[in-house]
Amino acid sequence: MGSGGREHALGWKLAQSPKVDQVYFAPGNGGTQNNVDITVDDIEGLAKFAQDKNCITVVGPEVPLSNGIVDEFTKKGLRIFGPTKNAAQIESSKIWAKNFMKRNGILTARFDVFDDSKKAIEFANSVDYKLVVKADGLAAGKGVIVCNSSSEAIDAINKMLIQKDFGSAGSKIILEERIDGIEASFIAISDGNTVYPMATSQDHKRIYDDDKGPNTGGMGTYSPTPVIDTNTANEIQKNVIEKTITSLKKEGITFKGFLYAGIMLKDGKPYVLEFNARMGDPECQPIMMRMDSDLLEYIQASINGTLSSLPQISWKKQSAVCVVLASKGYPDSYKKDEEILGLDDATPNSQVFHSGTVRKDGKILTNGGRVLGVTATGETLENAITNAYARVDKISWPSKYCRTDIGKKGLTWYKSERI
Ligand code: AMP
Repeated sequence: MGSGGREHALGWKLAQSPKVDQVYFAPGNGGTQNNVDITVDDIEGLAKFAQDKNCITVVGPEVPLSNGIVDEFTKKGLRIFGPTKNAAQIESSKIWAKNFMKRNGILTARFDVFDDSKKAIEFANSVDYKLVVKADGLAAGKGVIVCNSSSEAIDAINKMLIQKDFGSAGSKIILEERIDGIEASFIAISDGNTVYPMATSQDHKRIYDDDKGPNTGGMGTYSPTPVIDTNTANEIQKNVIEKTITSLKKEGITFKGFLYAGIMLKDGKPYVLEFNARMGDPECQPIMMRMDSDLLEYIQASINGTLSSLPQISWKKQSAVCVVLASKGYPDSYKKDEEILGLDDATPNSQVFHSGTVRKDGKILTNGGRVLGVTATGETLENAITNAYARVDKISWPSKYCRTDIGKKGLTWYKSERI
């Protein structure tokens, strides 16, 4: 379920399982086959389709999870992969997630919650550290404003609490200490008791090279990332991921599905910036290309609560890099309906995962801000970068835009900071 690059990559990987007869995408995009014209908010329509086809449903995006699709499907006896509405709160309410971390001793930036703009502004003026202002609810990755000064924080508070730019998602806000460190993504799969790590990855959130400009949904990723070395990975697995699953269980919540921790590493300590109750996009694309195990087996084990009967997930030794091709103007306004050329000019070790595309009269047209995730593997990170950009160069449309430095953070880390 879903229409992004994440769903294309999940479907691509699932189609390789000898146990899968057919993959359907609802609603899918211009690059996916067997698209079913049912939107992700039509729970009844999706349930009927899953029942007719005897499908396992894999939920990509967060909104249907927070609408309770897993609860509804489970009531009907349908097999569905992902957390219940209650468990998905870890993403759908940032305030719930921050309080959960606080009461369970999971390391996160200090914070306060406000619904009154005067009190929030008073607080912003009183602290001697930089702030991040966050809308409580889901805001398509845009409800977080990282501020450089108290006046920027006050602007952000006004946007959320007075101007209501984020609607009801911003009627309560978090003012959180800004942590300046190195960011990486840590994703795991859980059946509510056992939780296995996926490969590590690092996103590039800002629109321009060298992490300049506004935040986006993600402009590229690579996996694995040297930023999370084995010791750090073990620490995150134990003190963040396993602690979260067991603390949720203690509170009566069984978390099944992908659990994503957005981590900021500072002074060697992993601070949780946020949790997502699903795979990341574009983290999913390189992770799927590196996964050796059969994804379906792990999805079935998550649904059935039998993950501990499977071995840890195995990964290709190679690196993988995903370069997001966007339409100029994203994350603000951009053109649509431009024809994309060069998609069939394949190179070894690369895959093009579609997101904002649509198929019309045999042509593939742009249909969103983030359009394609060009993903390639290589023996080293450097090779994977070269392979990904070689494929990127073969694809064109008038408004095509991408960052030119995806993966560079990993290379410089290898060369200079990795001691
Ligand atoms: P979130 O959706 O909470 O992960 O926030 C989106 C992005 O904002 C993160 O990926 C970070 O780049 C940035 N961010 C969030 N919280 C903080 C923080 N406390 N300190 C610094 N940057 C942050």
